[in-house]
Amino acid sequence: MRILGIETSCDETAAAVVEDGRRVRSSVVSSQVKLHAPYGGVVPELASRAHVELINPVVDEALMEAGILDVGELDAVAACYGPGLAGALLVGVSAAKALALSTGLPYIQVNHLEAHLYAGWLEEPDLEPPLAVLIVSGGHTLLVVMEGHGRYRMIDRLAAEGDRAAIAFPRPMLDEGYDFSFSGLKTAVVNHVRKHPGVATPDVAASFQEAVVDVLTAKLVAAADESGAPTLVLGGGVAANSRLRDRVAAAAEASGRRVFLPPLALCTDNGAMIAAAAWWRLQADGPTPLDAGIAPSLALPTII
Ligand code: ZN
Repeated sequence: MRILGIETSCDETAAAVVEDGRRVRSSVVSSQVKLHAPYGGVVPELASRAHVELINPVVDEALMEAGILDVGELDAVAACYGPGLAGALLVGVSAAKALALSTGLPYIQVNHLEAHLYAGWLEEPDLEPPLAVLIVSGGHTLLVVMEGHGRYRMIDRLAAEGDRAAIAFPRPMLDEGYDFSFSGLKTAVVNHVRKHPGVATPDVAASFQEAVVDVLTAKLVAAADESGAPTLVLGGGVAANSRLRDRVAAAAEASGRRVFLPPLALCTDNGAMIAAAAWWRLQADGPTPLDAGIAPSLALPTII
């Protein structure tokens, strides 16, 4: 089954064709990073307009790379419907629905966070739940235990073990369950630099990174401990960070667990992860009605 997956939730216009939720036939990602760089962050209105301009060429290229001459040769069309920027989501969802309507193909709406989880199957088709998964990106940080397909458990207790190394910066939220917030850490960095104007920038960066990686790794291992998941998985753009990869790999080895660290192209936002999740969703729920909308504040559907 060949599914076209479309992703436009933030500043990447992406489309891909994936077979049976596992084999990537094509994956095209057009980034808007340069467009938003002068503003220091993604400007929603600019993102929407760029998606409108890019969506057709990106979809065409994905179809061409996959050797598909006519959209009708596909088996389904999927798009990310949330979470994300409303105007940006509307572009991808509208494009997918238009293709579905004009061809009679099923439309499948996909949760962006669930898609990040399913990116793992594109590289490791034999991945078996339960998995303790840490998704870290600029837009979202999510720690979840995937007990089975479509079954996600948030864990609400954590036996915090405290800091392991005496590094200057605090480890925010380490004692507060499985939520993440690094605003306290950012304040600590600002205060430190103000008090020590001569401090070496690489030292600040390294210490900041170490504090963040400490918290992320400790919580991932704690979630695996509590749920009994034998496999640790990383995802999201920040999963490209070499220190985070090293520490999670070391933590897996130390605790006798398997670890899966996907390649960068599968960690950042892409259409292939949408198509992969869509394949599983189509089997579980069937097609999505064409009058379904977008959900900018969508969360991962959890069982607890
Ligand atoms: Zn993402």
